[in-house]
Amino acid sequence: MIEVRDFSFAYNDKNVLTHVSAHFPLGTFCAIVGPNGAGKSTLLKAIAKLLDTSGDIIIDGTPLKDYSFASLARKVAYVSQRQDVIFDFSVFDTVMMGRNPYQGRWAAPSDTDKNIVEDALAMTHLTELKDRMLLQLSGGELQRTYIARAIAQQTPILLLDEPLSNLDVSHQLEIMEIVSRLNQNKKTTILFVVHDFSMAMRYASSVLLMDAGQVVDFGEPAAVLTPDKIRRTFHIPDKYDIDNLGRIVFD
Ligand code: ADP
Repeated sequence: MIEVRDFSFAYNDKNVLTHVSAHFPLGTFCAIVGPNGAGKSTLLKAIAKLLDTSGDIIIDGTPLKDYSFASLARKVAYVSQRQDVIFDFSVFDTVMMGRNPYQGRWAAPSDTDKNIVEDALAMTHLTELKDRMLLQLSGGELQRTYIARAIAQQTPILLLDEPLSNLDVSHQLEIMEIVSRLNQNKKTTILFVVHDFSMAMRYASSVLLMDAGQVVDFGEPAAVLTPDKIRRTFHIPDKYDIDNLGRIVFD
């Protein structure tokens, strides 16, 4: 379903991704893991066609370069890591923006659009907050609003760049349960960047381990996130022990 073939990318002259190849079949729930600067966000941006090259990336048999903006928006939803509020819309109006790829330019939202938005709000436990303005939300609520917008976009592919950052553990679990349900019930293909190994092991069906712009390993979570590979990829000194959940063990 998503095929990345020998993809390389540089910002200015700095190589950020080198010869990255990966195949994500339909319904994959893949955690992308790696140290800061590994190229994880850049890979997601490449798949979302947000870089100035789409290289050899193929989605559903069609090269990314052949997708129009609107046709890709019906296929791929992307939630970025940065969550600045630029325009202070309400939660409801923000989630309704997920319906843009299906609406005519000046068309008012249909009843179907409204129902889809209400469903996305209910799934993300935002119904009671739907009239709130974005600037009046907590970090976790804002995060859920952007995820709700992506859900309302009803795409078969969802890309989430660090959806758990800045959330306490119960809100992290809430987000993981929401996306896990999408994956199970709607077979949505999900790629998400995550720093917490235990979340990756618990929820993901596969892990793409990256370092310095390259793929280190790709496979089942327990096979990829071994203490040894974590130590090497994250350059963790020998004096620290790492347990089977990827946690540092302090005496
Ligand atoms: P990760 O998500 O794994 O932390 P990124 O994909 O964000 O890594 O970044 C990979 C490298 O590319 C880093 O060295 C980062 O500084 C650099 N980089 C990211 N975005 C830009 C940009 N817009 N311009 C120049 N360099 C960038």
